[in-house]
Amino acid sequence: MNDCLFCKIIQGTIPSSKVFEDERYFAFNDISPQAPTHILVVAKTHVDKIASMTDEDCAMVGGLFRTAAKICAEKKIDDYRLVINNGAGVGQSVFHIHLHILAGRPMGWPPG
Ligand code: AMP
Ligand code: ZN
Repeated sequence: MNDCLFCKIIQGTIPSSKVFEDERYFAFNDISPQAPTHILVVAKTHVDKIASMTDEDCAMVGGLFRTAAKICAEKKIDDYRLVINNGAGVGQSVFHIHLHILAGRPMGWPPG
C-alpha cells in the first residue's frame, strides 16, 4: 500500500533499525521503545488490522508469532510480552498489522 509507513520501512524507503528479515517478515526496533527490548514484527503483505483478516491471512498472522519466538530465542530472551493493538481506541497508530515484542522489565497486569 503506497501510503503505509510500515510498507515503506519494509521497502527501505524509510529507514529503520532492522532486527530480522526473511522472505515474508521484517522486524525492526520501535522508534519509541516502551521497554528495554521493543521490537515490531510485520509481514511483508499489507493488512491494516486484525479485524480485516480473512481466513487466508491466518498463516501470515501465525507467522508473526513464530518470527517473534525466533527473534527472542536468538537474543536469549525467555520472557516477553506480545501485543497487537486493533483499532485507534486501544492505541493502534499504524494501520499495518504488527506484533510488538516487549521485554526486559517487569510488566504489570492488567495492561494499561
Ligand atoms: P501501534 O500503536 O500498536 O500502532 O504501534 C505503532 C508503533 O510504531 C509505535 O510503538 C511507534 O512507536 C512505532 N513507530 C512509529 N513510527 C516508527 C518508525 N518510523 N520506526 C519504528 N517504529 C515506529
Ligand atoms: Zn503496509
